[in-house]
Amino acid sequence: MTSDIKIPAFEATPLDSIPKIAASARSSYASQKTKDVEWRLVQLRKLWWGLTDYTEKLQAALKQDLNKPGHDALLSEINYTISDLNNTIKKLKAWAKDDTNLDYPLTFTALKPRLRKEPLGTALIIGPYNFPLMLNICPLIGAISAGCTAVIKPSESAPATAMVMKEMIEKYLDPTAFSVVNGMIPETAALLNEKWAKIFYTGGLTVAKIVARKAAETLTPVTLELGGRNPAFVSRSSDLALAARRLMWGKTLNAGQVCMSHNYVLVERDVVDDFIKCINATYKEFFPQGCQASPDYARVVNERQWDRMKKMLDTTKGRIVMGGELDRADRFISPTAVLVDSVDDPMMAEESFGPIWAILPYDDLDEAIKTMNTVDPTPLSLMTFGSKAENEQIINQVTSGGASINDSFMHGCVSTLPFGGVGESGTGSYHGKAGFDCFTHQRTMVTTPGWMDKLLRVRYLPHSPGDFKQFQWMNAAKPDFDRDGRKTSGSGLGYWLWMVLGLGGPSVKGALARWLLVLVGAWGAMTQYHKFSS
Ligand code: NAD
Repeated sequence: MTSDIKIPAFEATPLDSIPKIAASARSSYASQKTKDVEWRLVQLRKLWWGLTDYTEKLQAALKQDLNKPGHDALLSEINYTISDLNNTIKKLKAWAKDDTNLDYPLTFTALKPRLRKEPLGTALIIGPYNFPLMLNICPLIGAISAGCTAVIKPSESAPATAMVMKEMIEKYLDPTAFSVVNGMIPETAALLNEKWAKIFYTGGLTVAKIVARKAAETLTPVTLELGGRNPAFVSRSSDLALAARRLMWGKTLNAGQVCMSHNYVLVERDVVDDFIKCINATYKEFFPQGCQASPDYARVVNERQWDRMKKMLDTTKGRIVMGGELDRADRFISPTAVLVDSVDDPMMAEESFGPIWAILPYDDLDEAIKTMNTVDPTPLSLMTFGSKAENEQIINQVTSGGASINDSFMHGCVSTLPFGGVGESGTGSYHGKAGFDCFTHQRTMVTTPGWMDKLLRVRYLPHSPGDFKQFQWMNAAKPDFDRDGRKTSGSGLGYWLWMVLGLGGPSVKGALARWLLVLVGAWGAMTQYHKFSS
């Protein structure tokens, strides 16, 4: 990396320019240009070049903000984002096509039902500080691919990356359609006063409630990507050394400032000592010259976050069993594990969102599951290292946004898989096709041919009991369940024969009527075709 890279000093966007920026993004959307998939592809390809040309500058900015090692900046921010982008560029035409593979009765075939993929409009994207590039640009990829225009508000806690991103986006993308507003609470508040077609927010719960409340005033749909107290589970059936190594990775990447990393680990009581030996062995292996001297370890983003975590360590009744090195002047906290004996311990009471975590021993699996469901019933992620049966039971009985079996948050590392929370850890998801869907309205459409009017007689006035009877005869299906909700048929040969014939149900009358309609439909279409071609 060259040392002469100049990062612009942080500058808030003038407050009075914010309504104009939002209006420009709205009128750019209203111009209809974003409806053209080729236009979107051009923007995405330009973004690809922006990320590629700005790689070194972004690495330098991430280093400045979080002491993020260049290796991590590439792996978990720049390359990850480019991988999401590559996939989107490759698949966009297929995603944007009308979806005709829909579920509808055969009788409606002639209507050619389809889902048209419409952009929602102009989106606001508000990002956090921990992966300040990826967590702003991946939602932007979703917005561009869907045909939305967007304004991005990066976190002021990662000011260097915010400035470099602004420079890159303004240089490479259509400036009427995409902009970056930098600033703090007043600038975010000014943005929230604007009308958006979608708000995509990543960050903490408190601000999420402000965003959701504001969005509710104008019935604006929101996607909320939040955090939580993520549990990890380690039983005596696990490979302890592997579990230790993988969980330590989760707390060393970005100095544990990862929304998906574990907050606490439930360890079966009789392997607690061995597990502690394993994490200490991994610590030595990861940091041969000591943690603070390691070039591969990031720093806590600012003093406020450092003080918050220091307080957790000061007030715990537990015992530090690994790490525990701190240096405020350097915003340094080593990966630190604290052995606690209660869910009420301060180490368990809030999300650490950093390199510190609790170890809580458990005696039986049901008790461990109860603990997980008590501490945080809807965490963002769940990690389990147990036997097949234990893992299965935990996955069944504890919910989470995403989950990894036998690993830390590996489920979040595949850039094309849907990523999102549940309950208090968020609503909605993105990345890959889910990113496109997140900013898309699925518009149901049908085209009713003129020749169908005879068949549609039932809906017209004056109402005719005869038409209604015929309609019912054609559409009625006998239930295959009794009054207690138990299935009464559906396993016999006859049923499967009907299904194979595509008749969709046990009612012979209805099925035959549907086939008749298809034939009438085909005949109608043929007549129309001949009329036009002669
Ligand atoms: P943050 O301080 O960077 O804030 C996030 C955004 O909210 C910033 O853009 C900030 O300017 C804005 N903001 C702050 N106060 C505001 C206010 N009063 N009104 C309007 N906007 C305001 O980040 P944070 O909130 O501290 O982020 C940490 C949390 O985010 C953690 O809980 C973490 O788990 C979660 N997180 C979730 C994900 C995810 O993808 N689910 C990713 C990263 C972080």
